[in-house]
Amino acid sequence: MKKNIVLLPGDGIGPEIMESAKVVLNTVASEYNHEFNFHEHAIGGDAIDRFNNPLPEETIHACKAADAVLLGAVGGKKWDNNPSHLRPEKGLLGIRKALGLFANLRPIKGFNSLLHASPLKEEKIAGSDILIIRELTGGLYFGTPSERRENGNVVVDTLYYERHEMERIIDKAFQSAMQRKKQLTSVDKANVLESSRMWREIVDEKANVYPEVEVEHLLVDAAAMKLITQPNHFDVIVTENLFGDILSDEASVLTGSLGMLPSASIRTDGVGLYEPVHGSAPDIAGKGIANPLGMILSTAMMLRHSLGLEEEAAEIERAVNETLEQGYHTADLQLKNGKLAGTKEITDAVIENLTTKSISNSICNMYV
Ligand code: NAD
Repeated sequence: MKKNIVLLPGDGIGPEIMESAKVVLNTVASEYNHEFNFHEHAIGGDAIDRFNNPLPEETIHACKAADAVLLGAVGGKKWDNNPSHLRPEKGLLGIRKALGLFANLRPIKGFNSLLHASPLKEEKIAGSDILIIRELTGGLYFGTPSERRENGNVVVDTLYYERHEMERIIDKAFQSAMQRKKQLTSVDKANVLESSRMWREIVDEKANVYPEVEVEHLLVDAAAMKLITQPNHFDVIVTENLFGDILSDEASVLTGSLGMLPSASIRTDGVGLYEPVHGSAPDIAGKGIANPLGMILSTAMMLRHSLGLEEEAAEIERAVNETLEQGYHTADLQLKNGKLAGTKEITDAVIENLTTKSISNSICNMYV
């Protein structure tokens, strides 16, 4: 298989972990006889410095022509006081919008060897396997007007959704639930917001199309509490943009390992952008100690969701799991009696496990 992949390393540790992603993909390509052509482009602070634009036209064109896009991370203190059109995150929001990526998929599943690092008691988090699906292109973050008025003393933000925007994300969530445990939790604030009442109406309509899926409605405040008190309760969670932003960040700390979590932003034809959940970690950039595993697991999601390479994706996930089981860990992961490794060393260990297929029939298909 021959595919074009755009790489957007971005800022901070972005370029370091992107190197790991490239090595892993090259290994997969040679093991499975694929050809992945990489095209590197600027985004975020790096693009502001080089092109005075967080999302240059050239980057947008390249991403539109690609089969999939991999992103490191954007942001850093250097650009924190820039005017809003010259902020790194403008690049990220802009590329999601330009590609029409309306669904953000965040699998939250703990690795056994890391569960002791969870802020929850091990027995509460053990066995949790949640997929959070967040609407990404509508709602409060994009509605207009969004402005200060009357000398800055009045403020307005707009929560705007069209029916079709809700329908497509809710449909995606039902499809995902069908491939998993067939349990869907829809999160809204229907006791207060009109937008949530329309959301709930659409979920109930779609439930008739997918009668095998068990559906529950939860108010966002109740969902936030239940994620902490009973994470095992959930299978697939679907929600709108703002609620999804907050709940997915809350859920991401449950496993105790922010550096381990991948994410995907996709649209209906499978084109997608894949990135780790964490930010650019400027405090450790350039030190060679960043954890590349969230980035590497994002490549697995890319192979699965955009390129249809399920076996290769599962092999990467197996190799990461085995690397942790062997005791390798970066400084951000607290493994007792483990082997402390830098970005390159732990990537080498993953590659070693990837090329050793002796236990490949014990594939752990973790991130469907
Ligand atoms: P962060 O995720 O970058 O870092 C939080 C903490 O986790 C830091 O101590 C960092 O060293 C550590 N950490 C994060 N990823 C790590 C990894 N892979 N390996 C080892 N340690 C890791 O969040 P922050 O400090 O709040 O934000 C830093 C910058 O990143 C800001 O400019 C923010 O706007 C940006 N940011 C970008 C994204 C993105 O690109 N998607 C997401 C969140 C934050």
